[in-house]
Amino acid sequence: MDLKAEYLDLREEMVAAIDGALTSMRLFLGPNVEALEQEFAEFCGVKYAIGCGSGTDACQFALQGAGVGPGDEVITVGWTFIATLAAILHAGATPVLVDIEPQHLCMDPAAVEAAITPRTKAIFPVHIYGHPCDMGALREISDRHGLLLIEDASHAHGAEWQGQRAGSLGDAAAFSCYMSKNLGAYGEAGLVTTNDEAIAERVRLLRNHGYISRYEHSLVGYNSRLDEIQAAVLRVKLARLAESIEKRRRQAEFYRQALADTPLTLPCEEPGTRHCWYMFNTRAPRRDELAAFLEERGIATGQHYRVPAHRQPALAPYGLDKYHLPETDRAAEDVLILPCHHYLTEGQIEGVAEQVRAFYG
Ligand SMILES: *Cc1c(COP(=O)(O)O)cnc(C)c1O
Repeated sequence: MDLKAEYLDLREEMVAAIDGALTSMRLFLGPNVEALEQEFAEFCGVKYAIGCGSGTDACQFALQGAGVGPGDEVITVGWTFIATLAAILHAGATPVLVDIEPQHLCMDPAAVEAAITPRTKAIFPVHIYGHPCDMGALREISDRHGLLLIEDASHAHGAEWQGQRAGSLGDAAAFSCYMSKNLGAYGEAGLVTTNDEAIAERVRLLRNHGYISRYEHSLVGYNSRLDEIQAAVLRVKLARLAESIEKRRRQAEFYRQALADTPLTLPCEEPGTRHCWYMFNTRAPRRDELAAFLEERGIATGQHYRVPAHRQPALAPYGLDKYHLPETDRAAEDVLILPCHHYLTEGQIEGVAEQVRAFYG
């Protein structure tokens, strides 16, 4: 990431937007939040977007808003950030894990059916790295079993499946606006999207202590109000998101050419989908050695997720270590994320490719 370059690029507009929010002294759930919610709903092609305090809260509220609660099982993946699972637990439900498919590292629809029990309430796929899951297959399964389909779209602002954007592909969706995400705030922020008015209303209540009017609360909710400064920042960035995704798409294509003759397995785009390239995820023989080699030469890399969620010590008390997820374990061994962001040049990508070639000789 080069968040500083981005800030310097947007500085004038950003300072004006933040100053506007502060000058109005409407600090929470004010005009910027309302405008952001409208603009993001439009961007995703849905009726409602609801801002909240973080992506983790957005995941929890999307689940709870759609009716997931204690006693329910939610089918998800171990190949994700811990927040996906934490949100299920915070909603009082039980995560049930399935493996990923090896091509895009998304939830494997073929594994879902076997994980369904009478207590299953929802399927909660993660559009990992910005590549959409096979939502056709997942929708078919969820419809046939009467299950909710809820997207963890934290990596997938602007990704598309069959011409429809992430956020519009299930009953509800959660987005993180953590600073590193494709639509990142300068603090904490998240968004829930849905076409369902009842879900939208419930999420609005959950994020603000069930507030319906002054001194009146209709449910026990949370303090997860999106603040006006973050909303103002996000509106400036949202206006440029489509262009920024275009740029990442060109970078990904350039990477694919530059790295074609290396031993790395490169990510690709499933026909009918549009990747938004939150991360450029490769699979690398001798991953750890390559990562150290690149790091020594000033090239930062990532290993999302070196320790998959089902093997996190935090989740041991929930018995998730019982799951046997061979594709997830394989990915934990060899996934290497290469730099991919708006300000990366073709020269820099060529430089990364050169070092990768140097490493493998
Ligand atoms: C970042 C992320 C979240 C949580 O978002 P926060 O804004 O950090 O709370 C949830 N799920 C996934 C897959 C993420 O990457």
